[in-house]
Amino acid sequence: MSKQGGQCDWCGVELEEDQGYRLLWPDKSLGTAFCRLEHIVPFLMQKDQWHIWKGVEIPADAPKVSTSSGDELGENALYLVHHRGEHRIPDSFEGKEELLEWAKAGGHFAP
Ligand SMILES: [Zn+2]
Repeated sequence: MSKQGGQCDWCGVELEEDQGYRLLWPDKSLGTAFCRLEHIVPFLMQKDQWHIWKGVEIPADAPKVSTSSGDELGENALYLVHHRGEHRIPDSFEGKEELLEWAKAGGHFAP
């Protein structure tokens, strides 16, 4: 078993701590990791196998409402944290379906 978040859960490429995305589900202590946003889509649609991670918590600076819809978050909220060098950039989602639609549309880079 590789270290927590040490590889992409879709394509298997190795990830350093300062690369990729970590998808956190604090209510269930689950996590997954991805090399890029596009790999979240097939993962959620076809695989959807999460890992029990240690210390899965709501990121301190995560948006209090959904990044996608602006709606309030429920207890099933998911947090997607972009690791970019020293930066940790969190987004918040009400659940898998909402995250999936957002990721399909290209995330923050949607036209
Ligand atoms: Zn990948």
